[in-house]
Amino acid sequence: MRGSFLTGLIGLSWWCAAIAAQEVKPNSPRQLADVILVDAQIHTVDVAKPLATALAIQADRILAVGTREELQPLIGPETKVWSAGGRCVTPGFIEGHGHFLGLGQSLQMLDLSAAKSWDEIIAQVQSAASELEPGQWIVGRGWHQEKWATPPSDHVDGYPRHHKLSEVSPQNPVLLTHASGHASFANDYAMKLAGVTAETPNPPGGELLKAVDPATGELEAIGVFRETAAALVQRVYNQAQQRLSPEAKREQWLDAIHRASQACLENGITTFHDAGSTIGTIDELKNLAREDQLSVRLWVMARDSNEQLERHLARVRTESQDSPFLAVRAIKCSIDGALGPHGAWLLSPYEDLSTSVGLNTSTIPSIEEAARLAIRENYQLCVHAIGDRANREVLDLYQRIFQETYDESEHSAGEWRTRAKTLRWRIEHAQHLSPSDIPRFAEMGVIPAMQGIHCPSDAVYVLQRLGYRRAAEGAYVWRSLIDSGAKIVNGTDAPVERISPVASFYASVARRLPGGPEFFLEQAMTRPEALQSYTFWAAEGGFEEDLKGSLTPGKYADLTIWSQDLLHCPEEQIPSTKVLATVVGGRIAFEATGFKLDSAGVK
Ligand SMILES: [Zn+2]
Repeated sequence: MRGSFLTGLIGLSWWCAAIAAQEVKPNSPRQLADVILVDAQIHTVDVAKPLATALAIQADRILAVGTREELQPLIGPETKVWSAGGRCVTPGFIEGHGHFLGLGQSLQMLDLSAAKSWDEIIAQVQSAASELEPGQWIVGRGWHQEKWATPPSDHVDGYPRHHKLSEVSPQNPVLLTHASGHASFANDYAMKLAGVTAETPNPPGGELLKAVDPATGELEAIGVFRETAAALVQRVYNQAQQRLSPEAKREQWLDAIHRASQACLENGITTFHDAGSTIGTIDELKNLAREDQLSVRLWVMARDSNEQLERHLARVRTESQDSPFLAVRAIKCSIDGALGPHGAWLLSPYEDLSTSVGLNTSTIPSIEEAARLAIRENYQLCVHAIGDRANREVLDLYQRIFQETYDESEHSAGEWRTRAKTLRWRIEHAQHLSPSDIPRFAEMGVIPAMQGIHCPSDAVYVLQRLGYRRAAEGAYVWRSLIDSGAKIVNGTDAPVERISPVASFYASVARRLPGGPEFFLEQAMTRPEALQSYTFWAAEGGFEEDLKGSLTPGKYADLTIWSQDLLHCPEEQIPSTKVLATVVGGRIAFEATGFKLDSAGVK
């Protein structure tokens, strides 16, 4: 883990040097290109010129788009030539709703989800232990004993015993969370730190698995902690995190930022809408932006107490027009929970839990207070709403605030709607809607920020929770929203889902469950719409369409190069599409193994 952090720092300093080099380059009166990209199948997402085969870049901006012949006059002696090798090029993708720090932190843990056996997990832990100093924790997630090809050689009801794992990690406590989140595995060292022995009783609502150790003939805790019992070890881990020095905490934080950035670039993401950072985190991000240490453009929603927002919104506000890698001009609130755990707030009870309509997680007055702050400080408001009741409450609240702001006594009747559209307030997820609320998004210019991938991931339980009618009329109704005039911002909610836009793009057009049927296919997006939802519409969702979202002269040279044409390959092949290269501000930020953008050679 330390190793990757050092690599991260080297990457960052190289990036700073690259930026500096770009800035000192004189702006030639002949407007020569620094780079010309040729042999490309470019989907510009610009209606004025939707297709092109070449693109010229000067500093961090697009200079011209056309054919190689058309761009020939822009080639000077210093111009570099990149070849896309005939591949598909689009504007850099915009992740419209994710959690940047959370993504980075999830990548700091060992990912055990692909392990085919307990031995593979032991090998992963051994390798992590070899990079750490004694006493440092090893944390992992995603193990599942049912997914292993063979059970551990020495198991108890399919669960492994800790011995082999403890042998490879004698000086590092290990805590590995089960894929379900409902159990954890600890090594001997971690159990000792937690004071766990064979005598430790089961806590209420939990269980430590115990068995006789064949070597000693004595009862012992085998390392598996179910449900609330996992807290016995988790508590010790949390305390250790609290005790880290400020320097160590800072190092961990920077490492998470670096890992999240890398994951974005590897997945063709050049801008990331962060769905909620505290004022403290925003201040840290502003420092990084000032030092040119961000490699992915962030558009951050401020999420904090209304008191903190009131005190700091004016100070932290920044537009991407002034700060190319960090925009802060939106507030995040949340009105309900998620559908899986029956937390989405519904108009009528759950089909499979008739006693519940879900949860209202923040009060309407507190969201209204945030809404007034948004109006006062010229911020967008982005409210998380999943259930149909939650969405209606937010639309009603938005309408009240819009009408109050654009008072009808001062303006002509109904003018508040026209004015409201200029604010571009958003509803995050907008997952389950009552049919009568669908047209209200376009009428008030409210942007639904929806995650294509959530549809196939959640579809398995949507019918159970909502029943057929509510699912058919209002679940992930992309088609109805677009037909009513709304513009959808797409995304993945990473790390809830993998950051891959390919999976979400495919879900948006195919709505196909893993290995199963389609989920109300009539609500699918077309491929051009799915592309817009990840580019131009997403840019509009952050007031950034003059800088991003299409390959248009004057905008940032942010591009993604794909292994195949996302708009025209056979639909079932979409999921196998790979990112070959990602360009941010005219700089190659990622190249897949075996692909070289700048190998075009002769001009
Ligand atoms: Zn989220």
